[in-house]
Amino acid sequence: MKIVEVRGYHVGFSPNPAIGNSRTWIRRRDFLLVEIVTDNGIRGWGEVFSSPHAAAALIQTKLTPLILGQSPLAYRRLWETMVATHGYDRRGASMMAVSAIDMALHDIAAKSLGVSVAAMLGGALRDRIFAYASGPFIAEGTDPYGQYPGIVDECLKRGYRAFKPRAGVGPRQDGEMANAMRKQVGPDVGLMVDINQGYTARAAIDSAHRMADAHLLWIEEPVQPEDITGYATVAAAVPTAIAGGEALASLAAFKDMLEARTFSIVQPDLTVCGGYTGFMRIAALCAAYDLPVMAHAFGTVVNQRAALQVSSLLPASRGGGPAAYPYIEYDVTPNPLLDLQGPVTIESDGTVSLPDVPGTGLELDAKNLEPWITKTWSQTYQ
Ligand SMILES: [Mg+2]
Repeated sequence: MKIVEVRGYHVGFSPNPAIGNSRTWIRRRDFLLVEIVTDNGIRGWGEVFSSPHAAAALIQTKLTPLILGQSPLAYRRLWETMVATHGYDRRGASMMAVSAIDMALHDIAAKSLGVSVAAMLGGALRDRIFAYASGPFIAEGTDPYGQYPGIVDECLKRGYRAFKPRAGVGPRQDGEMANAMRKQVGPDVGLMVDINQGYTARAAIDSAHRMADAHLLWIEEPVQPEDITGYATVAAAVPTAIAGGEALASLAAFKDMLEARTFSIVQPDLTVCGGYTGFMRIAALCAAYDLPVMAHAFGTVVNQRAALQVSSLLPASRGGGPAAYPYIEYDVTPNPLLDLQGPVTIESDGTVSLPDVPGTGLELDAKNLEPWITKTWSQTYQ
């Protein structure tokens, strides 16, 4: 089995109304989806959710020539070969480019063996993963948290038993929002917040104190992603677990953060940190620190399905919430690229089932993507 073609699909959509976090209004969401094709017709998918255009250029110029003609079963060797080309860019788009290819290679390799990616990587520890609603998001206008109760209500009806609203408008407003949400959902639903890097360490500490009565499971990305001192200051000052890591790409970046005791929960994103190969290396590093790992996923169905596979491979740990960790994140904003194969089904216990199917169980075609494609490209084996 040989890799004979690498296809890139630039896809995106414009959320309307814009979805907000503490730093920005998201008016456009663009992704790169990579489809790798083999000579026996098996196809696999990978994704880049951040810096899709830079990653595409790196794939086309540096990585595709290394993988065309190679066996996708050699995904580990190919990962090392690709990473060896990084040069100076060790924590950015280069690793995102490797991530998309590594994801697609795993998908193909598992499909060729007739097993799921989790089975190929040694076997799932569980067949249901506890899901949480990633939302609601901050709204433009005078009442940034005003829509939260209505959205939470809808998500409760859909079966979600945990929520991660965006916070970071201001410590006082955060406290009012989080404490009201706790009253709304009762004591048994998991609550956490995502600050999306927006606060100074001092504002994050103030906000954490004001949200204390909401009994949050974690506060995510309170400060800038590589602000080791800021993270360590917040982590030492508040009783709530601090989570982060979605913006980190290299094993060395995670090591720096873990050594400084910044995180109580670690959230690598498969599309940023080197695909399955990068993710499992980071998970091993976190195991040495006895820290729970949960995949960050805020993109298309491609990353979501991959996140589900790795979530089944991570050891369980108890963080005090309605279920043992790991949880899996589901974007609950309108996202047609997440719903390409229909909306997710949340079981009555708040979990999502791990499909026992070859690869990640995703059978996507270019025609499914058509309404959202802005550009495509392809490179073939000569
Ligand atoms: Mg986040």
